[in-house]
Amino acid sequence: MQKYSGMLIALILVISMFAAGMAIAEGTLTMGTNAEFPPFEFVEGDSVIGVDAEIAAEIAKDLGLELVIENMAFDSIIPALTSGQIDIGVAAMTVKPERLNSVDFSDTYYNARQACIVQVGGKAQDSESLKGTTIGVQTGTTGDYAAEEYSEDIQRFAKALDAVLELAGGKLDAVIIDEPVAKNILAALNNPNLTLLDTIEFEDEFYAVAVPKGHPELVESINNTIERITTDGTLDAILLKYFPAEEEPASEEIAQP
Ligand code: GLN
Repeated sequence: MQKYSGMLIALILVISMFAAGMAIAEGTLTMGTNAEFPPFEFVEGDSVIGVDAEIAAEIAKDLGLELVIENMAFDSIIPALTSGQIDIGVAAMTVKPERLNSVDFSDTYYNARQACIVQVGGKAQDSESLKGTTIGVQTGTTGDYAAEEYSEDIQRFAKALDAVLELAGGKLDAVIIDEPVAKNILAALNNPNLTLLDTIEFEDEFYAVAVPKGHPELVESINNTIERITTDGTLDAILLKYFPAEEEPASEEIAQP
């Protein structure tokens, strides 16, 4: 019985997506992301992989659809959702009140915050000395908004890594990006001149899947998948796969706001 009601919900969902002109009617679920954000999304060979790609694969599996990934600039994801170019945005995207004006969000699946990378012994060493410095960010991200609180001299990059490389080359005083990505990039670069500032406390941020407005049945299906993978251990397994053991996220980190 439960099997049939699940099939009925999937059928209603596909019909309503078709009516709304979404790609779901063609048997695919198109996810937009910015694959410059390891370990959540990055390119390996010809594929986009990472935590978000695996979560999206679970969402597509539960819907009986084939996942298609479109790689784009982070600040193109919300416009691509509102124009119907993509069906879902899965991009370590923080739930922000301003974004809720344009898109809906699923339940949250990860708790992060911003981090500030600086040069060892450089100009910016705490929130006071960070003020008025040249700060690099990824365009349109919560790091971009956080940087605006400290300086007007903000340099915006399409790729988080490019900002950190500019910092390493001495062209920036700091980079503000999501902490898990900051740690991942620092570990990959292994540059002894770069470090994370531990003197600034940034607010908690919660990642969720962005969906075009007005598709409550799609949001509900995504929420069901998030609940399933949280309770059956799939999400923990995905996180363990992409986070090095020493920064293995505690399960409390995956909290609902
Ligand atoms: N979590 C940040 C945001 O939502 C950064 C996301 C990203 O760059 N992929 O703005």
